[in-house]
Amino acid sequence: MKPKILITDKINETAIKEAEKFADVTLDFGASEDEITNEISDYDALIVRSGTKVTGKIIAASDLKVIGRAGVGLDNIDLESAKEKGIAVVNAPESLTIAVTELTFGLMISLMRNIVIGDKSLREKKWDRHKFMGSELYAKTLGIVGFGRIGREVSDRANAFGMKVLTFDPYVTVEDARESNAVLVPEISELLKNSDIVSVHAPLTPKTKHLINNEKLKLMKNSAVLINIARGGLVDTKALIDALKAGEIAGAALDVFETEPLGESPLLEMDNVVLTPHIGASSAEAQVIAGTIVVEKIRGILG
Ligand code: NAD
Repeated sequence: MKPKILITDKINETAIKEAEKFADVTLDFGASEDEITNEISDYDALIVRSGTKVTGKIIAASDLKVIGRAGVGLDNIDLESAKEKGIAVVNAPESLTIAVTELTFGLMISLMRNIVIGDKSLREKKWDRHKFMGSELYAKTLGIVGFGRIGREVSDRANAFGMKVLTFDPYVTVEDARESNAVLVPEISELLKNSDIVSVHAPLTPKTKHLINNEKLKLMKNSAVLINIARGGLVDTKALIDALKAGEIAGAALDVFETEPLGESPLLEMDNVVLTPHIGASSAEAQVIAGTIVVEKIRGILG
C-alpha cells in the first residue's frame, strides 16, 4: 500500500507531483489545528511551510513517521512532542538562502534610498525629490548577526557593494568569517556600536529571543538602521518602536514579526520603516527547491 501524505500549506506543484509518484497525497491548505487533529491519524507524513502550527495536540493524535517543513525554520513545529513520539522532522535549510539574501538587499536599499515612500509619494501625484535624499551602501559598515548560510551570502554580496562587514556569531571562527571577507567581533555590543546597518540572520531559540532589546538598540548609532528578515522574536518590537520614535536609530526594515499576521501596529505609520509580509523565502526558485528537497527526504524515510 502507498504511504499517505497530508499537505496543509501551499507548496510548489512540481513537489506535489513528485510526492504523488510514491504516495497518496491529500491537499488541505489552510486547515485549522482542529481539522488537522481530526484527520491526521490516517497519514504517514505531514508537509507544512510556516503557516501550519504543528502542535502537541496534532502530534498526539497522529501516527506520523515524518513531518516535512518545506523551508528552514522549525519554530512552528513542536519538536519535543515529535521527538517523544519518534517522528522524524525534515526541512530544507539550503533551499531558501539565495531568496532571503537577495530580499535582505531589497530591504536595505529600499530603506536607504527611500524607494517605498518615494513610490507612495509619486502615487499621491507628488514630485518631492528633495524629500528623499538617501544614503549609499558603499563604504558603510554592515553588521551581520548570525553568520550561517544566509549571513555568509549577505556578506559576499555586501563586499560587492564595497561595504565593510562585521559579524557576531558565537559559533563561527575568525577564519570562517574571513572566508566571506567579514571581521568577526567577540561581542555583539562591538558590532552594534560600529555598524551603519545591522542585519539579523540568527535562528530564534530561547537564548536568542529579544536578542535585540532596549539596551542593544541604545548601543546602535542614531544614524543606523536595523534589518530583521530572520524571525520576529529576535527583536523586542516594543523596544524597537520606542527607539524609532525617540530617534535612537534611523530606521528599520522588517520581513518578520513577533505576531504574524502583523495586524495593527505603530510601525505601519512610520515613514522610516519598510515592511514586507514574511516573503523572504517567496521566490519561485526557492519554493521549487524547498518542496522537492523535502519530498525527496520524506521518500527516503517512508521507503
Ligand atoms: P543557519 O543555521 O545557517 O545560520 C544561523 C547562524 O546563527 C548560525 O551560524 C549560528 O551559529 C548563528 N547563531 C546562533 N545563535 C546566535 C546568537 N546568539 N548570536 C549570533 N548568531 C547566532 O541559518 P540560515 O539558513 O542562515 O537562516 C538564518 C535564519 O533566517 C533562520 O534561522 C530563519 O529563522 C530565518 N529565515 C527567514 C526566512 C524568511 O522568510 N524571512 C526564510 C528562511 C530563513
